[in-house]
Amino acid sequence: MLRYPLVDLSNSIRRYDELRDGLRGECGFTPRLPKAGETIHGHKFFIGFGGKGANQCIQAARLGAKVAMVSKVGKDSFGDNYIENFKNNGVSTEYVGQTDEASTGVAPITVNDEGQNAIVIIAGANLLLNSEDLEKASRVICCAKVVVCQLEIRPAITLEALKIAHKAGVKTIFNPAPAVADLDPEFYKESDVFCCNETEAEILTGIEVCNIEDAGKAGSILLEKGCGSVIITLGAEGSVLMSQGKRTPHYIPTKKVKAVDTTGAGDSFLGALAFYMAYYPCMDLEEMSRRACDIASVSVQSQGTQASYPHRAQLPQELF
Ligand code: ATP
Repeated sequence: MLRYPLVDLSNSIRRYDELRDGLRGECGFTPRLPKAGETIHGHKFFIGFGGKGANQCIQAARLGAKVAMVSKVGKDSFGDNYIENFKNNGVSTEYVGQTDEASTGVAPITVNDEGQNAIVIIAGANLLLNSEDLEKASRVICCAKVVVCQLEIRPAITLEALKIAHKAGVKTIFNPAPAVADLDPEFYKESDVFCCNETEAEILTGIEVCNIEDAGKAGSILLEKGCGSVIITLGAEGSVLMSQGKRTPHYIPTKKVKAVDTTGAGDSFLGALAFYMAYYPCMDLEEMSRRACDIASVSVQSQGTQASYPHRAQLPQELF
């Protein structure tokens, strides 16, 4: 009996793009950005949970997946709250380490009245997740049905995790985010599904992805590098899927909805995709992607990142 069909490797850093669009995270709103050495009063402050993998984990868990998180946070109140948040969402935290050698990953952001912002990303404990931690977590990684990895921890550790999973015959989803132009080619070979958005696809291939045709061109380049399948998500347009066996780009439209906040839609998609891969192994990837698009399109209809991710009970029965 598999204990955790789904394992997600991640961290808890707030994403710049989350902050950019939705202004989530540790946000302080001020009339203007303070100068060096200056102290000013702001209007309001709020805090939100994030991190790509953390979001993906929570979306998968809300769909009913048994999920374990492998990551590291600081021995501080942020870390305690992160662990609590995972537990509240039914995510196993057995492999979420707490260290006193670094703080929990954070990204404090200050936003002025013109909407301009100043952000300081501190990866903190995320960078301390190491091979030893993976070794400890290998039991859960190797017993999973699906392992999902991102680039918010050290890339070498992400690659090691993908290799452990792949070697054990576990399906891997790699979300190359935040993207780097010089991604180690080994990442492609270790990815059963390589899933990115338009911006990431452009950074990785040099092809500006503005439409379905561009996505097909970028997808071909990514596929050429050796991953099993490529999915490029295209916001309100849906996604494009290509596989080694089916190289012709397949367009998967998403539902037309009234979007109020698209922050974290990509993570909702990935969490849902991981859920389908773990629990519906006989379903084809095209149908999984279509359903993941539907679920992500629900998430954009309400405010927030994790707050907008639907629970299974809120979704139409035909998605399960
Ligand atoms: P984020 O960085 O905000 O997490 P992303 O850029 O990684 O998002 P997108 O490509 O924007 O990811 O969106 C992922 C999926 O979410 C899309 O494939 C689509 O299914 C759904 N989606 C996003 N925006 C919309 C929208 N405006 N209307 C309907 N569905 C949407």
